Amino acid sequence: MSYDRSYDKDNRLIVSNIKCACGSVHNEPAQDIYVGSGIIDNAAAYIQKRGYGGNCVLVADNITWDIAGAKVSAALKAAGYRVHDCVLRRRERLEPNETAVGEVFLALQADTDFLVSVGSGSITDTVRVVAAKVGLPQVCIGTAPSMDGYTSSICPLTYRGVKIHRPGKCPEIIICDTDILRTAPMDMVCAGVGDVLGKYIAKADWKIGRVINDEVYCDVCGEIVTDALERLLNNIDEIKARSEKGIKLLTEALLLSGMTIMIIGHTRAVASVEHNIAHYWEMMQMFAGRPAPGHGASVGVSTLLVWPVFKRFAGEDLSKLELDAVRERAISREARVKWMKKAYGPAAEPIMEENEEDFLDWQEQCRRIERAQARFGEIKQCIDEMPPISLIEDAMRRLGAPMTPEALGIDTALLNTSMRCAKDYRTRYTLFKLISECGLEDEYLAEYPIA
Ligand SMILES: [Zn+2]
Ligand SMILES: [Zn+2]
Repeated sequence: MSYDRSYDKDNRLIVSNIKCACGSVHNEPAQDIYVGSGIIDNAAAYIQKRGYGGNCVLVADNITWDIAGAKVSAALKAAGYRVHDCVLRRRERLEPNETAVGEVFLALQADTDFLVSVGSGSITDTVRVVAAKVGLPQVCIGTAPSMDGYTSSICPLTYRGVKIHRPGKCPEIIICDTDILRTAPMDMVCAGVGDVLGKYIAKADWKIGRVINDEVYCDVCGEIVTDALERLLNNIDEIKARSEKGIKLLTEALLLSGMTIMIIGHTRAVASVEHNIAHYWEMMQMFAGRPAPGHGASVGVSTLLVWPVFKRFAGEDLSKLELDAVRERAISREARVKWMKKAYGPAAEPIMEENEEDFLDWQEQCRRIERAQARFGEIKQCIDEMPPISLIEDAMRRLGAPMTPEALGIDTALLNTSMRCAKDYRTRYTLFKLISECGLEDEYLAEYPIA
């Protein structure tokens, strides 16, 4: 198993020569992803290489307009492009909602050839959904190393106050100028780090999925992410100083994580139970009309919460399980529906519909338990590969990242429910599912009681 990571003379980040025996089809990313210092000046040249037409709509908000939007717009105009600027002016943080999407739609001209998004998560997603709908290419100018979604093809949006996901496409050109990304506020840098640290959990869960359910685990995608994570953890002080080197490493980690989605066609390498918890917090705070915590900050905190559960399980003795007792306590379909409605409120129905396999019969539950018993050594190994939690805590502490649910405005009731229902958000296999299937949830999650 191996791959090459390199840059060409134009600062284009390339993953190539993928050799992996996992059996999946591995696509080398077809997007042009540029990372480097001062490369914003090459935006027009990068776009010309793709041969788009001469008319674009450039979308920024009032903040990113000042950071990079105005400059890019002027440069494209100087290069002969006709640029229609669409600045989403907000007094508060921009919400990627129907108003924002509508503004971008109405800014489209009859002869628009491509869209340019200047911003991080919210703007990229707002433009992504429109670009996909109208079938035009998107050029993404990143402004903060705050999340791994630049390379994503899904658009998390809000519609009438509710979180929704709409299909989009990965931008064909992504330009991350480290001179610009270095000016991002520290909380956005911490968010980016938090989002990447969660990948250790995603990796362990993916490997556990291989043991229990014969899922195909891609070694190369796993390695791409882990290599990037290790480089990042070895350079926390550079990141804290927002040096060229530190911000480049963080940006690379975010982009390379996202590139695994293109290589393998799914998000297994980048999101698991820690993301479920983060999504849950966001969703429930929005239902309650409270401000939702930022994505990466949530993932960082949820990673710290689930880490000890993993490490504890590595010392478990599954041979002591009494299957009859586990069977007696197995949750019925009826009870599970009730639980889902209690935990997820208005979101319960669609989640259950999309994840029908999560209603287990005893036969399947028993199969999983017996598999875990027979191959516990492999499960332990998946967990032992995770570094000690002190390494993660130390990195977050040095950066000044939020480390507790309280710091994100998550109260005890919401925290407790989230730890219990994170396993129920989607079918994707997790250690949290295994713990529950083995009848060990109350033991492992005793400090998160449900009223
Ligand atoms: Zn994420
Ligand atoms: Zn593979």
